[in-house]
Amino acid sequence: MNKNHNPKPMLKYLMATLILFASLLSFGQTQKPVIAILATGGTIAGSAQSSVQASYNPGILSVEQIISSVPAVNEIATLEAIQVCNISSQNMEEQIWLQLWKTIDSLFANKLCDGVVITHGTDTMEETAYFLNLTVRHPNPVVLTGSMRPASALSADGPFNLYNAVALASSKEAYGKGVMVAMNDLFFCANDVTKSHTTNTAAFTCPNYGPLGQMRDGKPSFFRENLFIHTTRSQFELKGVDKLPGTEILYAYAFASDLPFYSLIEQGTKGIVIAGAGHGNYNRPFATAMEHASKKGIVVVRSTRIPSGGVDKAAEEYNSIFPVSYNKNPQKARILLMLALTQTKDTKKIQEFFEKY
Ligand code: ASP
Repeated sequence: MNKNHNPKPMLKYLMATLILFASLLSFGQTQKPVIAILATGGTIAGSAQSSVQASYNPGILSVEQIISSVPAVNEIATLEAIQVCNISSQNMEEQIWLQLWKTIDSLFANKLCDGVVITHGTDTMEETAYFLNLTVRHPNPVVLTGSMRPASALSADGPFNLYNAVALASSKEAYGKGVMVAMNDLFFCANDVTKSHTTNTAAFTCPNYGPLGQMRDGKPSFFRENLFIHTTRSQFELKGVDKLPGTEILYAYAFASDLPFYSLIEQGTKGIVIAGAGHGNYNRPFATAMEHASKKGIVVVRSTRIPSGGVDKAAEEYNSIFPVSYNKNPQKARILLMLALTQTKDTKKIQEFFEKY
């Protein structure tokens, strides 16, 4: 035996090897993110009589059935399934929005999950997304997804959309990015995303700003960031709110009647968004009705039925005393107006909201 043998370096070597081994082991066991799947129905939960039929019934499958069609999703996250409702999204209700908000707020506030994925019908998905984008005041990812083909279809698009939505909600890159919609390999910000095709699987676009990014191999790659105010910086507070101010949309078109306008004024509507022609334009009967509404304390906002370009303060023909929606389409403008009306009726302040959110 070598008398000069010193056990210390050997011990150090052993310890270092153990630490390395232990850290490699614990690296292998990194906890998967916990993602709550909040199912609301839609075509992703839909079923048809045959795999090639165009008509089908949305809102048939349960959240567990939807998840079981995508086994790979369990490799990226630990899932908590919650069935919020099972409806087609054209039947979305204010009370379901408030319930969704409450559920998400309490999941994040109590640290019960890292992110949320909402399965939703595609018809009003953009509206639910924008409502939550303005009201969920947490940085954790919230991603909505759905499908254009029912679960029973050949090449159903729901399973991959769900996989991508869970992967996006599980990623650290999605933190603080606002509520997003993941469809057809792309993901979009809630303030601009819109359904722009009635049947194609590539149904969603951001007509003004383009998609936020795309999913590849279960990883998001961001192209840009949503710089409008959302989530953690939003000033809209829903705690204690159990009813939102009644706010409607009126569509402008050639010789549009003002009858619906007066009927809304009569029934006590608090806010009206005009889906104007072109750059937020409308006819003479609308102009008179808008002034009348405004005198009655109803806030009227000029938006446009044109998919991109938005409406700014420049106006043709009539004096522009009404707030404008900028790039918010009428259905998004209605949501922002509804939330703004929970705080103020001051049209200057409401105009500022449209500039920032
Ligand atoms: N009408 C369906 C819905 O919005 C369409 C879909 O999900 O794609 O629920």
